[in-house]
Amino acid sequence: MKLNHQQFGDTDNKQMNMKNKNAKKTELVANWQTLMRTFIRPENEETKLILIKYMEQILFGLHNFLKKHVGITEEVSLKELSKRFTDTRINKNPEKKLAEVITELIEDIAPHAVNVASPYFVGHMTSAIPFFMVHLKTIVAALNQNLVKIETSKVVSILEKQVIAKIHRVIYKEKESFYKEHVQNSKTTLGCFTKDGTLANITALWVARNSLLSSKEGFSGIEEEGIAAAYKAYGIEKCVILTSKLSHYSLKKAGGILGIGNQNIIAIDVDSNNRINLALLNKEIKEIKQTGGRIRILAVVGIAGATETGTIDPLKEIGMLCSENKIYFHVDAAWGGPTLMSEKYRHLLDGIELADSVTIDCHKQFYMPMSSGMVYFKDPAIMDSIAYYANYVNRPGSVDLGIKSITGSREANSIILDCALKIMGSQGYALLIEHGIETAHEFAEEIKKRPDFQLITPPELNVLTYRICPAKIKHKLSEANFEQRQSINEKLNKINRTVQRLQREAGKSFVSRTTLSIGNKWKEDIVVLRCVIMNPMTNINILRKILDEQEEIYRCHMHEVSSQ
Ligand SMILES: *Cc1c(COP(=O)(O)O)cnc(C)c1O
Repeated sequence: MKLNHQQFGDTDNKQMNMKNKNAKKTELVANWQTLMRTFIRPENEETKLILIKYMEQILFGLHNFLKKHVGITEEVSLKELSKRFTDTRINKNPEKKLAEVITELIEDIAPHAVNVASPYFVGHMTSAIPFFMVHLKTIVAALNQNLVKIETSKVVSILEKQVIAKIHRVIYKEKESFYKEHVQNSKTTLGCFTKDGTLANITALWVARNSLLSSKEGFSGIEEEGIAAAYKAYGIEKCVILTSKLSHYSLKKAGGILGIGNQNIIAIDVDSNNRINLALLNKEIKEIKQTGGRIRILAVVGIAGATETGTIDPLKEIGMLCSENKIYFHVDAAWGGPTLMSEKYRHLLDGIELADSVTIDCHKQFYMPMSSGMVYFKDPAIMDSIAYYANYVNRPGSVDLGIKSITGSREANSIILDCALKIMGSQGYALLIEHGIETAHEFAEEIKKRPDFQLITPPELNVLTYRICPAKIKHKLSEANFEQRQSINEKLNKINRTVQRLQREAGKSFVSRTTLSIGNKWKEDIVVLRCVIMNPMTNINILRKILDEQEEIYRCHMHEVSSQ
């Protein structure tokens, strides 16, 4: 298993490669000696240099590749690709050296993956990341700390508590004395890192559930006795969670996992700005209260940056409503949370400080590599309701972060966030956020100017939706009755689905698509094109080109689609 950079396959040593391919290939064998070489440090200067070369290739080879292929992905169908991956046996002896494996990944896999770093990739909440993130991720892998306990992470657990306090401060702005008391307090927790936003939301609602159905005389709490005993002890029939219909489907998963049932995640309609309809929320709360406790509200979840529309619920009003009614208030700011870093736009999230808990994703607008989420709590003692101890690892009173966490073993993503905050400064993140929001507004104006398009949900943050809807049809829609509108919308849906698909398949740019149910008078399901602007390299000229391409596709295929 000797490392051989000449097999590496970058352009400089293509010739060497040819030679190597022609030379008789020495068979690789798995034995103790070769195995040990993969564990110990490089044995000499030469091997060291080779290893460095690999890292260089990963940083720049991959980078060059991404630059060369400005498109999103190569034009090979999934069906075709899946035919190439049907070998389900594991070789007994090694098949390849590291050099070959890396070359293969760069040459054969990367081109068929998705170039999410392209400024033309504006369809999802995954995008380019600053190059230093790759360095930081490498350090996390090299250190290989396990945050489940202090014995496998030591100072890294302490560092994590500090960075959690930093973000907590951005959200809640508590007093200096509060952070002094809690930043390194082994008994309290201001939040925790999770694998993703989904698990952050589940953690928050797990805490909410256990706080509501906690122990009391004759009942040792839901965590111990389970849902049936809890409902019996509290004399309740069911628990519900109230949220906007634009909330993320991870809340439904939480309903299932926490045993309250996902049909009890009640989706409340939105107003014309796609924010939760406060009057309806209020009415729902009142009605539930009239059951005299038979139905209990486990939590109200507000959204700060809805996945489909980027819109923000009226957090202040929801927060006040919850505190009046003593209801747990969670804010899902998986997407919009980092907006708090911008002094210019932070006000959009006013009221977030009223939340009992807040979810923020690191791999979204903190521009960290996949995947990392976080959840924050206003009350530093509330996570006690989900504490677990084990004799061999998480002992009571220790700093072991695994005590209050849905995950067991966990990587040190907190190192990346802490370093990124130092490298970027809050102003660095603010510039990214502001670019996204302002470019989205510019894009909305552009869409409004073009007769063949219709802006559906204007951007509040950096997400907007629109659709192809030619001027003639817009006019028809305005005069149509409900049935006529439905039939026109069905046609438009087909057109928009087709244009989105053809643009994706052409591989130059990517805009996503979703279905929104909109309209004040009549609810209509309409297919919309969804654009998320988070890549700092995406600008209005690129967005214009994306619209041009959509117009072009529409003109070429409209006949085909409308006659279907
Ligand atoms: C992305 C997102 C989530 C889920 O986050 P994952 O990291 O994909 O699990 C939850 N809520 C909102 C509003 C999101 O945008």
